[in-house]
Amino acid sequence: MLSQRMKNLKPYVPGEQPQDRSYIKLNTNENPYPPSPKIGAFLKDVDPENLRRYPDPTSLDLRRAIAARFNLDPKNVFAGNGSDEVLSFTFYAFFDSSEGDVLFPEFTYTFYPVYCDFYGIHYQRIPLANDLRVRLNDYLPPRQSCGVILANPNAPIGIALPLSEIESFMEKYPRDRVVVIDEAYIDFGGQSAVPLIKRYANLLVIHTYSKSRSLAGIRLGFALGSQPLIDALTAVKDSFNSYPIDRLAQKIGEIAISDTTYYQQLTTKIISERNRLTTALQRWNWEVPPSSANFIFARKKGLSGKDVYQTLKNNGILVRYFDIEGIRDFVRITIGTSDEINALLSEIKANF
Ligand SMILES: *Cc1c(COP(=O)(O)O)cnc(C)c1O
Repeated sequence: MLSQRMKNLKPYVPGEQPQDRSYIKLNTNENPYPPSPKIGAFLKDVDPENLRRYPDPTSLDLRRAIAARFNLDPKNVFAGNGSDEVLSFTFYAFFDSSEGDVLFPEFTYTFYPVYCDFYGIHYQRIPLANDLRVRLNDYLPPRQSCGVILANPNAPIGIALPLSEIESFMEKYPRDRVVVIDEAYIDFGGQSAVPLIKRYANLLVIHTYSKSRSLAGIRLGFALGSQPLIDALTAVKDSFNSYPIDRLAQKIGEIAISDTTYYQQLTTKIISERNRLTTALQRWNWEVPPSSANFIFARKKGLSGKDVYQTLKNNGILVRYFDIEGIRDFVRITIGTSDEINALLSEIKANF
């Protein structure tokens, strides 16, 4: 009954979204604050009559708003149903094993190898430095590759690459292969590579509404790049689902991307809680690589990630650990509100 393709499928495992009790949820990097209040005002006035019709298949108003925010043209913007969908189309459109493997860091977003397996693309995981940083020289020729994908800041570690390093990498990387920078966490302190896309036609930058924009529930993401890259993504979309973004999400995305003042305040609070949590844990002898994201990655000698996860879960706090050789002793903790971080700190103090 099942195709061979289906039998070989190894799906991504998303972080838990338990429904059994209420937890302090610090496990899937959602924003602890509500989205722009302008969205509530819009939703109150929605006329259901409008939902009778299909949405704009090109999401033009949304792409215009995103383009304006980044000083680009709408033809440099592709919008999708969550950045996971944009990433999936990206792997399909640009990576082809006949030209070499796609390269990404050994520890990074665990969806990348899933897309590779789904599309039959070969990949190589490139080891990180001892301090868990990405070493971009390892991604350059003579190592063969059909493309590179990097999360910056890297997940689940949180360390960001400086723009100067990305720029000198782009100078040396072959111009006929695509470099993808997944900037899901860029608003929490990294330097965006968006200013480089006018100079490098092979650079694609991907953003999401799920983290800094507090809209994981509407599923929106976008890619920014040269027109040939955007046209390719559009062709892939039109071969899968020509109306992926619903009417409400298009409008909400437009409102959110324009309300920079509101989101700046959220980001500032999250960064300050991140720094407070990092300092407190370091004082208790936890090792915490410097994070530029809305999460930290932390471990303490003698503790396994699984034990930390389980003890905190028993006490009503969810964090994430990865059952992956090399990072098993870490937990990834999403930055919540001050109250949530206080609750976490008192559980950590009591138990570890
Ligand atoms: C959360 C995350 C995404 C997925 O974002 P969605 O827009 O919610 O699909 C993509 N890349 C990385 C690195 C992430 O952490």
